[in-house]
Amino acid sequence: MFSSNERVNLKEDTHFEIQVLQVEDNPGDARLMFELLFREQVTDIKLSQTESLQGACKLIGEDYFDVILLDLSLPDAQGLEGLLAILKMAPNIAVVIISSSDDELTALKALQSGAQDYIVKGRFDSYALNKSIRYAVERKKIEERLSYLALNDPLTGLLNRASFMARVTESIDRSKRNGEKLAVFFIDMDQFKQVNDSFGHSAGDELLIQVAARFRDCLRAQDILARLSGDEFAILIEQLDEPENSDKVTQKLLAVMGQPFYLSKQQVYSTISIGVTVFLGNEASSEEALKQADMAMYKAKKNNGSSCEYFDQALGESLQVRRILEVSVQRAICNGEMELEYQPQVDVDNKLIGVEALLRWRHPAVGLVFPNLFIPLLEDTGNIIECGKWVLKEACQTIQGLIDRGAVSAQLQLSVNISAKQIKWPDFYNTVNEVLVKTGFPADQLVLEITETTLMQGSECNIKTFNQLRELGVTFSIDNFGTGFSSLSYLAKLPFSCMKIDRSFVQDIGNDKQNSTLVGAIIGLSENLNKDVIAEGVETRGQFDYLVVSGCTKFQGFLFSKSLDPNSLIRFAAKR
Ligand code: C2E
Ligand code: MG
Repeated sequence: MFSSNERVNLKEDTHFEIQVLQVEDNPGDARLMFELLFREQVTDIKLSQTESLQGACKLIGEDYFDVILLDLSLPDAQGLEGLLAILKMAPNIAVVIISSSDDELTALKALQSGAQDYIVKGRFDSYALNKSIRYAVERKKIEERLSYLALNDPLTGLLNRASFMARVTESIDRSKRNGEKLAVFFIDMDQFKQVNDSFGHSAGDELLIQVAARFRDCLRAQDILARLSGDEFAILIEQLDEPENSDKVTQKLLAVMGQPFYLSKQQVYSTISIGVTVFLGNEASSEEALKQADMAMYKAKKNNGSSCEYFDQALGESLQVRRILEVSVQRAICNGEMELEYQPQVDVDNKLIGVEALLRWRHPAVGLVFPNLFIPLLEDTGNIIECGKWVLKEACQTIQGLIDRGAVSAQLQLSVNISAKQIKWPDFYNTVNEVLVKTGFPADQLVLEITETTLMQGSECNIKTFNQLRELGVTFSIDNFGTGFSSLSYLAKLPFSCMKIDRSFVQDIGNDKQNSTLVGAIIGLSENLNKDVIAEGVETRGQFDYLVVSGCTKFQGFLFSKSLDPNSLIRFAAKR
């Protein structure tokens, strides 16, 4: 019959689509198969033959095959041994078992081990054999596609999240053995949504592909790059002998993003935020490592893009607290956990002239939480709008109530802090108007405090809102004056009536010569611009005296009083 490792073609010059290798040591069986295979005028199969597992391995090493027809009883391999050896060597080849035994259990085991089909000698005809071969090829292709998709991101061809995590787990195990550090990077593109929105989704896809290619160029062959989802990528770097090496990578990544991208001939710039965690195998699991890198990335995002941050324990703790609070702050308003306190403002004679409403959160488990901690959370989650409405209404209602009872002066000024997000909110004017109407609080006694930075960002629409509110009689004061950069000529044009000297300047009076003179200069400036001025954070008699001499006439600070609940405010007012 055929000598071992022989190739048989039906027609020399045919274009063969399916390359088949028959592994069969029995010459009679081999001939029978050959006849069956080519009985129908089959033109697209090229058949090679060999008599042993060793021969099969040799041919597989030299040539390409789609299907192997494998006998389970070979001189050098018995049972599933041959199948396993072949799949180990060539996992992409479809294997059809041709067995003389009709043993159900073996058949099942063969299919479980990766064979595509199991057919019994003497029980199939030409048609069935051809069909088995062709189906085996198709099934194998689909299997391969599915396993590719299970491991890779179809858009960029990079590893996907699942396979990235598996690689991190493997390298954590290696690090446990060899004590070498590894680094996980979490990369998020800044404003990727805008690219999608302005150029369309296919341009967004194109950008991701180009970004992936640039990242790949920054890395060594053994470094792992993956696309986690959407615009998120991750990198794993092993054997980090020098932790500074991860710095070099982040520098390269940030640098390659500096060049423009071309999306259907449009030039587009894009930036990234990177979070990195460097650790030893026994310090974190793969999930923890990715979470740490994600947290560091979250911090990097706050730097307004194109930056990198490293994870450390303190960051982990603060972000954990933040996440817990973020969830509970959303419920705080509905649960009635928010309260207002009022900090008195006095004149040179220590007479109560106004109050500033300050928000407090009485968390059921944590206790009293101060606004510097939760206002940013409210802003980030968008809840500041709802909460700001509540503050405004609650403050006006309470102070009007005290005025009505004669507990405080009918002319008492009420200052309410307003965040930038609230001013930008289109319905802000209506809300203020409605609150004033409903509570009866006099518009000209309501002072809205906004920070210098918010005021300076004054877009057209903000200015319009400011002016509409001013027409109602509401006034504005600049909070924390001196801490944001103000162009003085621009400042003069803005519709505010009062500046609050930031407490950092006040507290340095007497300690720091430069700041003391600055306080004097701010007071001078306010006179020049014909604005009122209040000194914030006055804690000592010395500070007060200096301010008085400098020409300041209104004061707020612990020297006079901390913020008070309404009842304590009544007592405070009664004493003056
Ligand atoms: P702010 O507007 O500068 O408020 C003054 C802060 O200084 C208050 O802190 C007050 O307790 C504190 N303070 C007053 N006098 C002294 C003093 O003599 N020494 C010292 N060391 N501190 C003094 P608080 O209540 O923690 O508020 C912090 C910030 O949170 C406020 O700064 C304000 O920007 C914001 N905030 C408070 N309530 C609200 C609110 O209802 N809405 C918005 N958007 N922000 C608010
Ligand atoms: Mg304030």
